[in-house]
Amino acid sequence: MNQIVAEIITIGDEILFGQTLDTNAHWMSGELQKSGLKTGWRTTVGDNDTQITAALSVAESRADVILITGGLGPTKDDLTKETLARYFDSEIEMNQRALAELEDFMLRRGRKLNESTRKQAELPVKSEIVSNFKGTAAGMLFRKDGKVFVAMPGIPHEMKGMMTTTVLPLVKREFQLPVIYHKIVRTAGIGESWLAEKIVDWENSLPDHIRLAYLPTFGDIKMRITAYGNSKNDLQEEVAGYVQRLVPQIREFVYGYDDDSLAEVVGRLLIEKGQKLAIAESCSGGYVSHAITSIPGCSAYFNGSVVAYQNEIKVDVLGIKQETLNEFGAVSEETVSEMANNVRSVLNADMGLATSGIAGPTGGTTDKPVGLIYIACATDENTICKKLQLVQDRYVNIRLTTVAALNLLRRRLIEKD
Ligand code: ATP
Repeated sequence: MNQIVAEIITIGDEILFGQTLDTNAHWMSGELQKSGLKTGWRTTVGDNDTQITAALSVAESRADVILITGGLGPTKDDLTKETLARYFDSEIEMNQRALAELEDFMLRRGRKLNESTRKQAELPVKSEIVSNFKGTAAGMLFRKDGKVFVAMPGIPHEMKGMMTTTVLPLVKREFQLPVIYHKIVRTAGIGESWLAEKIVDWENSLPDHIRLAYLPTFGDIKMRITAYGNSKNDLQEEVAGYVQRLVPQIREFVYGYDDDSLAEVVGRLLIEKGQKLAIAESCSGGYVSHAITSIPGCSAYFNGSVVAYQNEIKVDVLGIKQETLNEFGAVSEETVSEMANNVRSVLNADMGLATSGIAGPTGGTTDKPVGLIYIACATDENTICKKLQLVQDRYVNIRLTTVAALNLLRRRLIEKD
């Protein structure tokens, strides 16, 4: 089956100036993907006739479906309609259906139709109208040599309305699109290249219609397996077979599937094992607790946390021994282990999780450089501590520490009887 390829052209100086985030292209790509249509290219151009024409011409040479947003409004800087009319060599005339829909739209809102709004019902005669139920600028559809061009307004909710009610159903009807099935395997505690090395044979065994992508964010790697075919059930079964062969090779790192989050998985394990959690955070400043409390129902297993940033708080609230701090410092295996163990009794929990480190960008020494972090997890049996040497960026260090701490907790919970 030939892959049908889309190109998205977003028009607007404000996007090129960095004033508006191009959420239209982001959303459209996602919806096209769900419908089995691959986005081959995204192009952004300014409110400029020459740029728009060039973008249309390039898109026509390489894509089957060309989706355009922006510049359809009634103001002088909105050039898309005129440019499209020239591109398709078409007159612009009042479109009676567009006018009727516009009058109805205004009437329902108790508003009068002024001349510039009325002009929005004028469309290139070679286009088909794409109704806009959420605004005043009608969309336009052009056909050329089996290709479809659709121009929609830039305003996100108007574009989304047109895509959902008209454009996606039309594309599905007129093009033979493959079924796309995604399965996500989620891992933590291993770097992308290590992961890739471990599964190289498995990855090489994937057929052409099944692809693997690594999507890392802060120590948490999504492995997205995408399969293309004709039947969702067949793809689902085939991918399940590949996942079954994959997981045993990386079992200790796999924490979940699809929409699972690490904090959610940890929460489920805490409930399953009947454990209450308390957290003592230094360098992560509450981020681990935030991840835990982002999960609805966490009061069933989370007692609370202490953000013990200053040494006095570590001593006064968590009962860390002054000698430990004097001898080893706040960023040490000894201190973080005491923090994890002591917070259990301070907050009356079964398990304690703690972090302490130098998040940066300053504050490092030769012995203890920026990015040196200790995490620890204590149970009634023992305390396990891990040393991490992370990077120079404060925010990245906090996020990486959070994932590492949650993953340490997860591993301990799995091992627990
Ligand atoms: P209008 O009828 O308002 O003139 P239009 O089709 O002319 O609509 P623009 O004027 O280009 O669209 O954009 C209107 C608003 O829509 C912008 O101010 C911006 O907030 C938003 N917008 C435009 N393009 C995008 C985009 N690609 N992603 C997100 N928002 C966008």
